[in-house]
Amino acid sequence: MNENTVAFIGAGNMARCLIAALVKQGYPAENIIASNRNAAKLATLAKDFGIQVTEDNVHAAQVADVIVLAVKPQLMAEVCQAMLAGAPEIHEKLFVTVAAGLPVSRYREWLGDIRIVRAMPNTPAQIGLGVTGLYPSQCSNYEKSFVDQLFSGCGRNVWLDDEAQINHIIAVSGSAPAYFFYFMQAMQQQAETLGFSSEDAKAMVAQTALGAATLAAQSDLSFADLRAEVTSKGGTTHEAIETFRARELEQTVAAAMQAAIARAEAMA
Ligand code: NAD
Repeated sequence: MNENTVAFIGAGNMARCLIAALVKQGYPAENIIASNRNAAKLATLAKDFGIQVTEDNVHAAQVADVIVLAVKPQLMAEVCQAMLAGAPEIHEKLFVTVAAGLPVSRYREWLGDIRIVRAMPNTPAQIGLGVTGLYPSQCSNYEKSFVDQLFSGCGRNVWLDDEAQINHIIAVSGSAPAYFFYFMQAMQQQAETLGFSSEDAKAMVAQTALGAATLAAQSDLSFADLRAEVTSKGGTTHEAIETFRARELEQTVAAAMQAAIARAEAMA
C-alpha cells in the first residue's frame, strides 16, 4: 500500500498533523506531496518531513493516487472545481476530505461521481492520540483499508455507516480537544489566582488531565464510577462537583456539543 502517492491539497494545521503521523509510522516521504498557496509553509514541511511540495494543486492531484482535501470548507468548491478544470482525469482517483460540514453530495457536484471518504480527525493526531471518524462512499475494501492505514498513525479510527454521524463525531471528538483546553485554561487561571506561577499552574493542570485521561482509558470503570471513587461525601471533591452540578455543567456540555453539530449542518 505504501507505493500509493498521497497528495494533500491545502497544507495547514490538519494536513501537517496527518503528514507527521504518516511519516512517523514509516510511510515513504517521497510518496507524499503537499500543495499550498503559502510557500513558507511548504518550505517548512519539506524541511521537517522530506516530502515533495508544490504550489500547484493540479500538479499534486495529477501525480497522486489518493487526494486528501484539507483546505477550509468555504474554499472547497473553488479548489475542487479548479483542480477538475486543470485535470479532468482526476475524478477517477480516490478522494479523502477532512473538511467539516460538507456532505459527499457537494463533492460530487464539484468533481463528478467520485469515490470518497469523509474523515474527521482531531489535532491530537499529531502525537498519535487522535480519534478519526471515517465515512466511505462508493469505495472498495482495498481503498477502505488504505484509508484506514493512512489514519492509523493518528490514533484510533472509527468507521461510520451513516453520513449524519460525521457531524456528530465533530462534536464528540473533532472539536473536543478545544473543550478540554478551555477547561484547562480556566483551571490554570484559577491556579495562578491562588499564587502558583504560570509555568507551575500549566504543568500541574496538564499533568492532572493526562493522569485522569490515562487512568480512565486504562480502567474498566465508567467515568461516573471513577469520579465516585475520589468523591467522599462531605469532602473537598464533593464540594467542587456539587458546584459544577448546581451550575448545570452537564446541560452546558450538551448545549455546546449540539451547537457544534448545528454549525456543521449549516455548512452543508
Ligand atoms: P488551515 O488554515 O491551517 O489550513 C488550510 C491551508 O489551506 C492553509 O495553509 C492555506 O494556505 C491553504 N490554502 C488556502 N487556499 C488554498 C488553495 N486554493 N490551494 C491550496 N491551499 C490553499 O486550516 P486547518 O485547521 O488545517 O483546517 C483544514 C481543514 O481541516 C478544514 O476543512 C477543517 O474543517 C478540517 N479539520 C480541522 C480540524 C482541526 O482541528 N484543525 C479538525 C478536523 C478537520
